[in-house]
Amino acid sequence: MKKSLQGTTTLHNGVKMPYFGLGVYKVEDGNEVIQTVKTALEVGYRAIDTAALYNNEEGVGQAIKESGIPREDLFITTKVWNTDQGYDNTLKAFDTSMKKLGLDYLDLYLIHWPGKDKYVETWHALEKLYKDGRVRAIGVSNFHIHHLQKLMEQSDEKPVINQVELHPYLSQKELITFCQNEGIAVEAWSPLGRGRLLNDPTLVEIGKKYGKTAAQVTLRWHLQNEVIVIPKSVTPSRIKENAEIFDFELTEEEMKKIDSLNKNERTGKDPDEFLF
Ligand code: NDP
Repeated sequence: MKKSLQGTTTLHNGVKMPYFGLGVYKVEDGNEVIQTVKTALEVGYRAIDTAALYNNEEGVGQAIKESGIPREDLFITTKVWNTDQGYDNTLKAFDTSMKKLGLDYLDLYLIHWPGKDKYVETWHALEKLYKDGRVRAIGVSNFHIHHLQKLMEQSDEKPVINQVELHPYLSQKELITFCQNEGIAVEAWSPLGRGRLLNDPTLVEIGKKYGKTAAQVTLRWHLQNEVIVIPKSVTPSRIKENAEIFDFELTEEEMKKIDSLNKNERTGKDPDEFLF
Protein backbone atom coordinates (compact mmCIF):
# COMPACT_ATOMS: atom_id res chain seq x y z
CA MET A 1 0.00 0.00 0.00
CA LYS A 2 1.21 3.49 -0.85
CA LYS A 3 2.18 5.06 2.45
CA SER A 4 4.03 8.30 1.97
CA LEU A 5 4.75 11.16 -0.38
CA GLN A 6 8.35 10.08 -0.83
CA GLY A 7 7.60 6.39 -1.25
CA THR A 8 8.91 4.63 -4.34
CA THR A 9 8.10 1.88 -6.75
CA THR A 10 10.87 -0.36 -8.08
CA LEU A 11 11.21 -0.28 -11.87
CA HIS A 12 12.13 -3.52 -13.65
CA ASN A 13 15.80 -2.53 -13.85
CA GLY A 14 15.95 -2.11 -10.05
CA VAL A 15 15.84 1.70 -9.98
CA LYS A 16 13.48 3.17 -7.40
CA MET A 17 11.12 5.85 -8.68
CA PRO A 18 8.78 7.98 -6.54
CA TYR A 19 5.18 7.04 -7.31
CA PHE A 20 4.20 10.68 -6.79
CA GLY A 21 5.68 13.75 -8.49
CA LEU A 22 5.04 17.14 -10.04
CA GLY A 23 4.27 17.67 -13.74
CA VAL A 24 5.30 20.98 -15.25
CA TYR A 25 3.60 21.06 -18.67
CA LYS A 26 2.46 24.62 -19.46
CA VAL A 27 4.42 26.08 -16.56
CA GLU A 28 6.41 29.02 -17.86
CA ASP A 29 10.19 28.97 -17.76
CA GLY A 30 11.81 31.45 -15.38
CA ASN A 31 10.10 32.63 -12.24
CA GLU A 32 6.91 30.58 -12.59
CA VAL A 33 8.57 27.20 -12.95
CA ILE A 34 11.29 28.02 -10.40
CA GLN A 35 8.72 28.99 -7.75
CA THR A 36 6.45 26.05 -8.59
CA VAL A 37 9.21 23.43 -8.37
CA LYS A 38 10.61 24.99 -5.19
CA THR A 39 7.18 24.97 -3.55
CA ALA A 40 6.69 21.31 -4.47
CA LEU A 41 10.12 20.34 -3.14
CA GLU A 42 9.39 22.19 0.12
CA VAL A 43 6.11 20.29 0.47
CA GLY A 44 8.12 17.09 0.05
CA TYR A 45 7.78 16.16 -3.64
CA ARG A 46 10.94 14.48 -4.94
CA ALA A 47 10.08 13.74 -8.59
CA ILE A 48 9.71 16.31 -11.38
CA ASP A 49 8.38 15.54 -14.85
CA THR A 50 9.43 17.91 -17.62
CA ALA A 51 10.13 17.62 -21.37
CA ALA A 52 12.11 19.43 -24.05
CA LEU A 53 8.73 20.53 -25.46
CA TYR A 54 7.76 22.31 -22.23
CA ASN A 55 10.60 24.76 -22.72
CA ASN A 56 11.23 25.04 -18.98
CA GLU A 57 14.14 22.67 -18.35
CA GLU A 58 16.41 25.58 -17.41
CA GLY A 59 14.07 26.80 -14.69
CA VAL A 60 13.57 23.25 -13.41
CA GLY A 61 17.37 22.89 -13.18
CA GLN A 62 17.73 26.19 -11.37
CA ALA A 63 15.04 25.32 -8.83
CA ILE A 64 16.78 22.01 -8.16
CA LYS A 65 20.07 23.78 -7.57
CA GLU A 66 18.54 26.44 -5.34
CA SER A 67 16.62 23.87 -3.29
CA GLY A 68 19.84 22.46 -1.82
CA ILE A 69 18.32 18.95 -1.86
CA PRO A 70 20.99 16.30 -2.60
CA ARG A 71 20.82 15.25 -6.26
CA GLU A 72 20.47 11.57 -5.35
CA ASP A 73 17.27 12.30 -3.42
CA LEU A 74 15.58 13.66 -6.55
CA PHE A 75 14.11 11.89 -9.55
CA ILE A 76 14.12 13.94 -12.74
CA THR A 77 12.36 12.95 -15.96
CA THR A 78 12.59 14.63 -19.34
CA LYS A 79 11.55 13.57 -22.85
CA VAL A 80 12.74 13.70 -26.43
CA TRP A 81 10.34 15.64 -28.67
CA ASN A 82 8.94 14.28 -31.95
CA THR A 83 10.99 16.53 -34.23
CA ASP A 84 14.20 15.30 -32.55
CA GLN A 85 13.49 11.60 -33.17
CA GLY A 86 16.10 9.47 -34.97
CA TYR A 87 19.36 8.09 -33.56
CA ASP A 88 21.75 11.04 -33.90
CA ASN A 89 19.13 13.71 -33.32
CA THR A 90 18.06 12.05 -30.08
CA LEU A 91 21.61 11.92 -28.75
CA LYS A 92 21.93 15.63 -29.53
CA ALA A 93 18.55 16.44 -27.98
CA PHE A 94 19.60 14.61 -24.81
CA ASP A 95 22.76 16.73 -24.54
CA THR A 96 20.72 19.91 -25.01
CA SER A 97 18.25 18.90 -22.31
CA MET A 98 21.05 18.00 -19.90
CA LYS A 99 22.77 21.32 -20.48
CA LYS A 100 19.53 23.18 -19.81
CA LEU A 101 18.80 21.14 -16.69
CA GLY A 102 22.40 21.56 -15.50
CA LEU A 103 22.57 17.90 -14.47
CA ASP A 104 25.32 15.35 -15.03
CA TYR A 105 22.95 12.40 -15.11
CA LEU A 106 19.23 11.98 -15.66
CA ASP A 107 16.91 9.60 -13.82
CA LEU A 108 14.43 8.86 -16.61
CA TYR A 109 14.42 9.69 -20.33
CA LEU A 110 11.27 9.07 -22.34
CA ILE A 111 10.27 9.04 -26.00
CA HIS A 112 7.49 11.64 -25.78
CA TRP A 113 5.23 10.18 -28.53
CA PRO A 114 5.71 7.22 -30.85
CA GLY A 115 5.15 9.45 -33.89
CA LYS A 116 5.20 7.80 -37.28
CA ASP A 117 8.11 5.51 -37.98
CA LYS A 118 11.26 6.55 -36.10
CA TYR A 119 10.61 5.36 -32.60
CA VAL A 120 12.64 2.14 -32.82
CA GLU A 121 15.67 4.06 -34.06
CA THR A 122 15.08 6.66 -31.36
CA TRP A 123 14.85 3.89 -28.78
CA HIS A 124 18.27 2.58 -29.82
CA ALA A 125 19.70 6.02 -28.95
CA LEU A 126 18.04 5.80 -25.52
CA GLU A 127 19.59 2.35 -25.08
CA LYS A 128 23.02 3.83 -25.80
CA LEU A 129 22.49 6.62 -23.26
CA TYR A 130 21.45 3.99 -20.73
CA LYS A 131 24.41 1.72 -21.45
CA ASP A 132 26.75 4.72 -21.19
CA GLY A 133 25.37 5.48 -17.72
CA ARG A 134 24.02 8.91 -18.65
CA VAL A 135 20.48 8.02 -17.63
CA ARG A 136 19.37 5.59 -14.92
CA ALA A 137 16.26 4.37 -16.71
CA ILE A 138 14.62 4.67 -20.13
CA GLY A 139 10.98 4.51 -21.09
CA VAL A 140 8.27 5.66 -23.42
CA SER A 141 5.17 7.81 -23.42
CA ASN A 142 1.90 7.59 -25.33
CA PHE A 143 2.66 4.08 -26.57
CA HIS A 144 -0.24 1.79 -27.47
CA ILE A 145 0.18 -1.97 -27.05
CA HIS A 146 1.17 -2.37 -30.72
CA HIS A 147 3.94 0.23 -30.36
CA LEU A 148 5.29 -1.54 -27.28
CA GLN A 149 5.20 -4.93 -29.01
CA LYS A 150 7.14 -3.62 -32.01
CA LEU A 151 9.68 -1.89 -29.78
CA MET A 152 10.26 -4.99 -27.68
CA GLU A 153 10.67 -7.20 -30.75
CA GLN A 154 13.35 -4.94 -32.20
CA SER A 155 15.48 -3.98 -29.20
CA ASP A 156 17.45 -5.29 -26.22
CA GLU A 157 16.06 -3.13 -23.43
CA LYS A 158 12.44 -3.19 -22.41
CA PRO A 159 11.01 0.25 -21.45
CA VAL A 160 10.75 0.60 -17.67
CA ILE A 161 7.66 2.77 -17.95
CA ASN A 162 4.87 3.94 -20.25
CA GLN A 163 3.55 7.41 -19.43
CA VAL A 164 0.05 7.76 -20.88
CA GLU A 165 -3.07 9.85 -20.52
CA LEU A 166 -4.99 8.22 -17.70
CA HIS A 167 -7.78 9.36 -15.38
CA PRO A 168 -11.26 8.18 -14.32
CA TYR A 169 -12.76 9.24 -17.70
CA LEU A 170 -10.02 7.33 -19.61
CA SER A 171 -9.10 4.31 -17.57
CA GLN A 172 -7.11 2.38 -20.23
CA LYS A 173 -7.61 -0.97 -18.48
CA GLU A 174 -6.34 -3.12 -21.35
CA LEU A 175 -3.14 -1.09 -21.71
CA ILE A 176 -2.51 -1.10 -17.96
CA THR A 177 -2.96 -4.87 -17.77
CA PHE A 178 -0.61 -5.39 -20.71
CA CYS A 179 2.07 -3.15 -19.17
CA GLN A 180 1.74 -4.64 -15.70
CA ASN A 181 2.04 -8.19 -17.13
CA GLU A 182 5.22 -7.10 -18.95
CA GLY A 183 6.70 -5.47 -15.82
CA ILE A 184 6.40 -2.02 -17.44
CA ALA A 185 5.33 0.60 -14.87
CA VAL A 186 2.39 2.81 -15.80
CA GLU A 187 2.48 6.56 -15.19
CA ALA A 188 -0.59 8.78 -15.61
CA TRP A 189 -0.37 12.08 -17.42
CA SER A 190 -3.28 14.45 -16.89
CA PRO A 191 -4.07 12.34 -13.81
CA LEU A 192 -6.76 14.92 -12.93
CA GLY A 193 -8.10 15.03 -16.48
CA ARG A 194 -6.60 18.55 -16.61
CA GLY A 195 -9.01 19.55 -13.87
CA ARG A 196 -12.09 18.71 -15.97
CA LEU A 197 -13.37 15.87 -13.83
CA LEU A 198 -13.10 17.60 -10.48
CA ASN A 199 -16.81 18.44 -10.29
CA ASP A 200 -17.82 14.86 -10.93
CA PRO A 201 -20.53 14.08 -8.33
CA THR A 202 -19.23 10.55 -7.67
CA LEU A 203 -15.72 11.79 -6.88
CA VAL A 204 -17.03 14.69 -4.79
CA GLU A 205 -19.35 12.36 -2.87
CA ILE A 206 -16.64 9.79 -2.11
CA GLY A 207 -14.36 12.62 -0.98
CA LYS A 208 -16.92 13.89 1.55
CA LYS A 209 -16.64 10.67 3.56
CA TYR A 210 -12.89 11.26 4.08
CA GLY A 211 -12.85 15.07 4.16
CA LYS A 212 -10.99 15.01 0.83
CA THR A 213 -11.44 16.79 -2.50
CA ALA A 214 -12.27 15.13 -5.84
CA ALA A 215 -8.64 15.76 -6.85
CA GLN A 216 -7.35 13.88 -3.81
CA VAL A 217 -9.77 10.99 -4.37
CA THR A 218 -8.66 10.75 -8.01
CA LEU A 219 -4.97 10.72 -7.15
CA ARG A 220 -5.56 8.11 -4.46
CA TRP A 221 -7.46 5.94 -6.99
CA HIS A 222 -4.43 6.02 -9.30
CA LEU A 223 -2.02 5.02 -6.55
CA GLN A 224 -4.23 2.18 -5.37
CA ASN A 225 -4.18 0.95 -9.00
CA GLU A 226 -0.33 0.91 -8.83
CA VAL A 227 -0.16 3.86 -11.22
CA ILE A 228 2.48 6.59 -10.81
CA VAL A 229 1.06 10.15 -10.77
CA ILE A 230 2.47 13.57 -11.69
CA PRO A 231 -0.31 16.13 -11.08
CA LYS A 232 0.49 19.64 -12.32
CA SER A 233 -0.35 22.78 -10.42
CA VAL A 234 1.18 26.22 -10.15
CA THR A 235 -1.04 27.02 -7.16
CA PRO A 236 0.76 26.49 -3.83
CA SER A 237 -2.41 25.42 -1.96
CA ARG A 238 -3.17 22.80 -4.65
CA ILE A 239 0.42 21.57 -4.76
CA LYS A 240 0.01 20.86 -1.05
CA GLU A 241 -3.53 19.49 -1.37
CA ASN A 242 -2.53 17.02 -4.09
CA ALA A 243 0.14 15.56 -1.82
CA GLU A 244 -2.21 14.99 1.11
CA ILE A 245 -3.44 11.59 0.00
CA PHE A 246 -1.56 9.26 2.28
CA ASP A 247 -3.90 9.34 5.27
CA PHE A 248 -6.92 7.58 3.79
CA GLU A 249 -7.70 4.52 1.73
CA LEU A 250 -10.50 3.94 -0.77
CA THR A 251 -12.54 0.77 -0.31
CA GLU A 252 -12.79 -1.82 -3.07
CA GLU A 253 -16.36 -0.70 -3.72
CA GLU A 254 -15.27 2.94 -4.10
CA MET A 255 -12.45 1.91 -6.45
CA LYS A 256 -15.01 0.09 -8.61
CA LYS A 257 -17.37 3.06 -8.56
CA ILE A 258 -14.56 5.26 -9.87
CA ASP A 259 -13.67 2.62 -12.49
CA SER A 260 -17.25 2.81 -13.73
CA LEU A 261 -16.84 6.52 -14.62
CA ASN A 262 -14.76 5.56 -17.67
CA LYS A 263 -15.95 7.13 -20.94
CA ASN A 264 -12.81 6.54 -23.03
CA GLU A 265 -12.60 10.33 -23.20
CA ARG A 266 -9.22 11.85 -24.06
CA THR A 267 -8.11 15.39 -23.27
CA GLY A 268 -5.16 14.95 -25.65
CA LYS A 269 -4.50 13.24 -28.96
CA ASP A 270 -4.79 9.55 -29.71
CA PRO A 271 -1.18 8.40 -30.31
CA ASP A 272 -2.28 6.68 -33.54
CA GLU A 273 -3.41 10.05 -34.86
CA PHE A 274 -0.43 12.15 -33.80
CA LEU A 275 1.88 11.18 -36.59
CA PHE A 276 4.74 13.58 -36.97
P1 NDP B 1 -3.44 17.52 -14.66
O1 NDP B 1 -4.43 16.42 -14.78
O2 NDP B 1 -2.29 17.35 -13.73
O3 NDP B 1 -4.25 18.83 -14.31
C1 NDP B 1 -3.65 20.09 -14.21
C2 NDP B 1 -4.77 21.13 -14.11
O4 NDP B 1 -5.56 20.90 -12.94
C3 NDP B 1 -4.23 22.53 -13.99
O5 NDP B 1 -5.14 23.37 -14.67
C4 NDP B 1 -4.26 22.81 -12.50
O6 NDP B 1 -4.46 24.18 -12.25
C5 NDP B 1 -5.48 22.01 -12.07
N1 NDP B 1 -5.34 21.44 -10.71
C6 NDP B 1 -4.28 20.79 -10.19
N2 NDP B 1 -4.54 20.39 -8.93
C7 NDP B 1 -5.80 20.80 -8.64
C8 NDP B 1 -6.61 20.70 -7.50
N3 NDP B 1 -6.19 20.09 -6.40
N4 NDP B 1 -7.86 21.24 -7.55
C9 NDP B 1 -8.32 21.85 -8.67
N5 NDP B 1 -7.58 21.97 -9.79
C10 NDP B 1 -6.31 21.45 -9.79
O7 NDP B 1 -2.94 17.85 -16.16
P2 NDP B 1 -1.59 17.92 -16.97
O8 NDP B 1 -2.01 17.81 -18.38
O9 NDP B 1 -0.74 19.07 -16.61
O10 NDP B 1 -0.81 16.56 -16.60
C11 NDP B 1 0.13 16.45 -15.56
C12 NDP B 1 1.53 16.30 -16.10
O11 NDP B 1 1.64 15.17 -16.99
C13 NDP B 1 2.01 17.46 -17.00
O12 NDP B 1 2.29 18.62 -16.28
C14 NDP B 1 3.18 16.82 -17.68
O13 NDP B 1 4.29 16.76 -16.82
C15 NDP B 1 2.64 15.43 -17.97
N6 NDP B 1 2.04 15.35 -19.32
C16 NDP B 1 2.63 14.50 -20.23
C17 NDP B 1 2.15 14.37 -21.50
C18 NDP B 1 2.80 13.44 -22.44
O14 NDP B 1 2.47 13.46 -23.65
N7 NDP B 1 3.72 12.59 -21.99
C19 NDP B 1 0.99 15.15 -21.97
C20 NDP B 1 0.40 15.99 -20.94
C21 NDP B 1 0.92 16.05 -19.68
P3 NDP B 1 -3.33 25.22 -11.69
O15 NDP B 1 -2.00 24.85 -12.24
O16 NDP B 1 -3.85 26.54 -12.20
O17 NDP B 1 -3.40 25.13 -10.18
